[in-house]
Amino acid sequence: MRILVVANQKGGVGKTTTAINLGTALAAVGEKVLLIDSDPQGNASTGLGVGRAQRKTTLYDVLMGESVIADAVVKTELPGLDLVPADPDLSGVELELGQQARRSFKLRDALEPLRAAGEYTYVLIDCPPSLNLLTVNAMAASDAVLVPLQCEFFALEGLTQLMRTIELVRGSLNPHLEIQGVVLTMYDRRNSLSEQVARDVRGHFGETVYNTVIPRNVRVSEAPSFGKPALVYDLKCAGSQAYLKLAREVVVRERDRRAKAA
Ligand code: ADP
Ligand code: MG
Repeated sequence: MRILVVANQKGGVGKTTTAINLGTALAAVGEKVLLIDSDPQGNASTGLGVGRAQRKTTLYDVLMGESVIADAVVKTELPGLDLVPADPDLSGVELELGQQARRSFKLRDALEPLRAAGEYTYVLIDCPPSLNLLTVNAMAASDAVLVPLQCEFFALEGLTQLMRTIELVRGSLNPHLEIQGVVLTMYDRRNSLSEQVARDVRGHFGETVYNTVIPRNVRVSEAPSFGKPALVYDLKCAGSQAYLKLAREVVVRERDRRAKAA
C-alpha cells in the first residue's frame, strides 16, 4: 500500500481534481484505491457523488478517535475506488485536538489497520490549501507527496516553499517522506507562459516532474457538478485521457522505485 498526499499550499491548483481523477484512473488500470478527503470543504466527496446525506461517518470522526477508518469508508460508483468523506466539522479538528499528544499522528495511527489488511494498493489524501494540522497529519501519514502545479507565473516560488515544508516534516514527524512527483496541471498550449513555466519547472526539478501534462479542459471542470469524475463524465476528453496516462506513469515509476529499493 502506497500512501500519497496530494499537497500544495496554494488553492485552485488542481489538488482535488487530481485526487479524484488520478484516483479514478488508477482504479481503471486495476489498482485498489482509497481516496481520503481531508479538506473541510468536501470537494472530493461532492465530486465523487457522495452527497451530504451519505456522509454519516466522516474523517472528522476518525481523527477524533470516535470511529475506526473502516466505518468511514463509502463505496463510490466505481469498482476499485472507495472514499473517506469530509464534512465542515473537519475544520474544528485543529481546535478540538488542542495540544493533545500525537495530535499530528491521528491519521497515521488511523491508517495502520489498512496497511495490515492490504485491501488497497494506493491511498490518496486530498488536502486543504494551507499548512494546517490537517495537512500536517496527512504528511505525517504518507509515504510520499504528489504535487499538482498549475502552469502560472509564481509556480516555481510556491514549489520551493512546499519543498521547504517537506524538509521540515522530514526533520520532525516523518523522516521517510518522499516526493512522488510533480504534475503540471491546467496546461494551456496556446499560452506561451504555460510552456515557459513547464520548461523552468523541469529545469529545476528534472525527473521529479511527470512527462504527462494535464491540459486545461472544460470537461474536467464541468464533471464535479454532476458528481462524477471526468473519466466517467467524458472518458474521451483530453483531460480524462491525460489522467489515464498519468496513472500509467505513476504505476510504472512505482514499479521501478520498488525494484530499486528491493
Ligand atoms: P484545489 O483542490 O487545488 O483547490 P481544484 O482541483 O479544486 O484545485 O481546481 C480548481 C479549479 O480549477 C476547479 O474549478 C477545477 O474544476 C478547475 N480545474 C482543475 N483542473 C482543471 C483542468 N485540467 N482543466 C480545467 N479546469 C480545471
Ligand atoms: Mg481542493
